Amino acid sequence: MTATSEATRTERQDRVLRAIEAAKNATRKTSDFIYANPETAMKEVKSSAALADLMEEFGFEVEREVGGIKTAFVAKRGSGGPVVGFLAEYDALPGVDHGCGHNLIAGSNAVAGIGLAAALEDLPGTVIVYGCPAEEAVGGKVYMANAGVFEGLDIALTTHPGAGGHSYNPVLEGSGSSLAWQEIEIEFYGQTAHAAADPENGINALNALLYVFRGIDGLRQHVKSSVRMHGVITSGGMVPNVVPDYTRGHFFVRAETLAETAELAEKVRKIAEGAASMTGAEVKVTLPHPPYADVVPNYTLSRRVKSHLDGLGMELPDQQPGPGRGSTDVGNVSYLAPTACARFPITEGLVPWHSTVVNEAAGTEMAYESMFTAAKAVALTGLECLEDTSLIDSAKAEWRDKLDKRKT
Ligand SMILES: [Zn+2]
Repeated sequence: MTATSEATRTERQDRVLRAIEAAKNATRKTSDFIYANPETAMKEVKSSAALADLMEEFGFEVEREVGGIKTAFVAKRGSGGPVVGFLAEYDALPGVDHGCGHNLIAGSNAVAGIGLAAALEDLPGTVIVYGCPAEEAVGGKVYMANAGVFEGLDIALTTHPGAGGHSYNPVLEGSGSSLAWQEIEIEFYGQTAHAAADPENGINALNALLYVFRGIDGLRQHVKSSVRMHGVITSGGMVPNVVPDYTRGHFFVRAETLAETAELAEKVRKIAEGAASMTGAEVKVTLPHPPYADVVPNYTLSRRVKSHLDGLGMELPDQQPGPGRGSTDVGNVSYLAPTACARFPITEGLVPWHSTVVNEAAGTEMAYESMFTAAKAVALTGLECLEDTSLIDSAKAEWRDKLDKRKT
């Protein structure tokens, strides 16, 4: 394996790093533009166009609107195998804008692709930057995966910002996963009546929805501690003196595997049916999107990512083994190809994530400096894959083994 400390760098590693340095200004400008124009899931029209334009400026062949999604794209350089891909994201969050720092995920993965493409001068292979919308909701990669956009991909690499003291690298067995996630929408249809004059004629759709919350809280006693279930009422009735005849709740259920998540979703459906029969309301349960898969960690790759981060002077603690806490649609890609992510800190200390604090941090010098280091680490990992396909073979062997274990 090739080390990345300055003294031992190879000519090709230098070339990749120089290409990243040369693209720094243009990348920073694009990330800043995405930062200044926060667009939420599936509405990232300006952000995706800016990033796709950047890829074109650096000689990538860009296909826009892939997988039937207006704000998804594929930017490609080179031809044939091996195929190394970088997953760029750019969606913002309602209320907290870039409170997850996806402007930095956009820039780092784009520039990592630009850097790695410099190695194609004298190495065979293809470098792809995937423009992936809607990570925070809907699941752009879920739809792209189902549409076959990632077909032929050998290795997937990506980056994610984090808080200082809370950015870890998953190199220890049992770390680095995320929770699979299913969205559920539950609607109840009842009968309006005067809440005081003739309540006996009403069927209360709000009571039904409240029973769902109680049912889920009861279920909480009998699930693994890694399970997460949470919901909000998106339609809860109009006024107190009209018995609500329509209510709607939006729920997320998350568990360690897709199978467990599907089982949970089924239990929540049963709770909703029970609530309907208790109140006499009609119920409609919808799964608006296919589930986010859990991340299949790949230590063969993530150990390489870590060694490059270390070599570049960004030494982060190892993530401790245990189930993931959040969810990401990177999980769906990790079922299609060995995948690794470089996490990089953008604050000095711990801060609440998905917050205005993170939004502020995502536009600072520290964030950009950290972002370029992460980009270099994944680009150098990609370079190792292009130079030595036995690394891809080892990553795939580990990946197949982990997929097999998930099936049993
Ligand atoms: Zn997020």
